[in-house]
Amino acid sequence: MKSRLISSATLRLAGTYLAIMLLMSCGFSVAMYKMSSREFDRPAPRLQLHQDDRLGGDLHDIFQDRAEQSRRNLLVGLLLLNGSVVVVGGLLSLLLARKSLEPIENAMEAQAQFVSDASHELRTPLTAMRAVNEVALRNPKLSLAAAKEVIQANSEETIKLQQLSDNLLNLAKQEHAVPPQLTSVELASVVTAALNQVIPAAQAKKIHIDDAVSRSQVIANEAMLTQALVILLDNAIKYSPAKSQIWITNERRGNHELLHVRDNGSGISPKDLPHIFTRFYRADAARSGGNGYGLGLAIAQSLVEQQAGQVSVASQLGKGSVFTIRLKRSLS
Ligand code: ADP
Repeated sequence: MKSRLISSATLRLAGTYLAIMLLMSCGFSVAMYKMSSREFDRPAPRLQLHQDDRLGGDLHDIFQDRAEQSRRNLLVGLLLLNGSVVVVGGLLSLLLARKSLEPIENAMEAQAQFVSDASHELRTPLTAMRAVNEVALRNPKLSLAAAKEVIQANSEETIKLQQLSDNLLNLAKQEHAVPPQLTSVELASVVTAALNQVIPAAQAKKIHIDDAVSRSQVIANEAMLTQALVILLDNAIKYSPAKSQIWITNERRGNHELLHVRDNGSGISPKDLPHIFTRFYRADAARSGGNGYGLGLAIAQSLVEQQAGQVSVASQLGKGSVFTIRLKRSLS
């Protein structure tokens, strides 16, 4: 359903368009009427016909009548023209106003959807915490061990909530951020920085990450590229079985450099693949293990796009995935 704000903005914009059209059409009509009137008001030639002055006078009257008739016809024609401008122009203005406001309407709808998704995600852990707390409070013989369990459960949910709010803040910041400063960045040093952040998670699952990135410079923002790579590596670790392997490689493609993160993890089904970069989309809640909010890839995509790059994915369910960051090569 159209929001009231958009509906009234559409009407106001359509009104403005129509007013402009009417102003132009009335201006044109007045100018045309004035010019034609000047011609009509020009004295008709009094014809001097041989010995018959009366015939000359009659012709003069006929000319005058014709001029008067034409003036009336012109007036009616111009009124009809302006009338049709009101009708046709009104419809056209409405169409034009709708078209002009369509992107704003879409953005507002996306924003509303985002807020509703975010509220839903915030509610889930809050409801869980409240339920656990209420059960504990209703128990008059709550032991110390049981109380500790409640605190532990609450603490886990709080960590999730903090992650979610960090991610939401991250997305909001990126949306309103000024364009980042792009410089020549050494790909290998970005990979090293990202690896330093994900090694503990990889070690916890005994996953080996193979870094085979060769020396290459890209046009990027070092911190943002590192952050995007950390997200891809985090996912690769999260969706891979224990004791598996992840590969980071790069390849030159014309003026661009491709950075691949490949895993032998769960893979993504063709049905889910087109949606995984959408905020809050999770391919399979069970597989995701309730761990994550479906914001990581949306953030990674936004980060890379701000560096004039793209993120893409190729995946086979049950076999693994390759996420690729494509950036412009730096020639310096
Ligand atoms: P999440 O927090 O759920 O990981 P993301 O936005 O990072 O959110 O990812 C969206 C979804 O894409 C995930 O829920 C998961 O189903 C899928 N996905 C992302 N990366 C991988 C991967 N390396 N292997 C398999 N599935 C993945």
